[in-house]
Amino acid sequence: MRIILFGGPGAGKGTQASAICSKLGIPSVSTGNIIREAIAAGTPAGVEFKKYTEKGELVPDSLVIEMLKDRIARPDCANGYILDGFPRSIPQAEALDEMGVEIDAVVSLEVSDEEIEKRMTGRRVCPKCGESYHLVFNPPKTEMICDKCGEALIQRSDDKAETVRERLRVYHSQTEPAKAYYEKKGKLRKVDGNGNVEAITALIFKALGI
Ligand code: AMP
Repeated sequence: MRIILFGGPGAGKGTQASAICSKLGIPSVSTGNIIREAIAAGTPAGVEFKKYTEKGELVPDSLVIEMLKDRIARPDCANGYILDGFPRSIPQAEALDEMGVEIDAVVSLEVSDEEIEKRMTGRRVCPKCGESYHLVFNPPKTEMICDKCGEALIQRSDDKAETVRERLRVYHSQTEPAKAYYEKKGKLRKVDGNGNVEAITALIFKALGI
């Protein structure tokens, strides 16, 4: 199954992608995580990416599209994958079509901007494996330690209040049109992204028929 997961910053895409992955046994492809890994490794691409992510802007389409193309060509993607954070613009959605990628389902996690701003302040992520947590809604078993790999959790620099507002603006202006692209094709399934993590997971599984 090839699935696209839409949702604003902090809508819960990473958390829900993990749940879908475990259920279906397919990898989650998060362009945000790939970009953060490149930034952390200090590669030339990472240095370029940082200029955009730290302002809450999108990394240019041409760079992200190439990165995604390489990632989904890897053997672990042969039986399907979940795209978490891609496509984020109309040119990215069109690029998937041009690559000949057949998308089976598109899920959009619907969360209000007010709720998103509340959530972001509590978000913590694992810099090693990318797992995300929330201090109140989805805390790790041991305070500030990743359940999966034992690494110390961090707050992402792009989770700061003013960056979050810019990311929301970018989401509405550039990513919502990409969402509408799939709605027009009759592929979009909207899921209420407010509430507890398990209840939202159940709604997503229902929407996907899994
Ligand atoms: P995320 O973890 O998905 O929220 O992504 C974090 C940041 O990485 C975003 O705010 C963008 O700057 C960048 N990014 C991630 N995915 C994309 C994409 N598909 N297109 C452009 N920029 C992206």
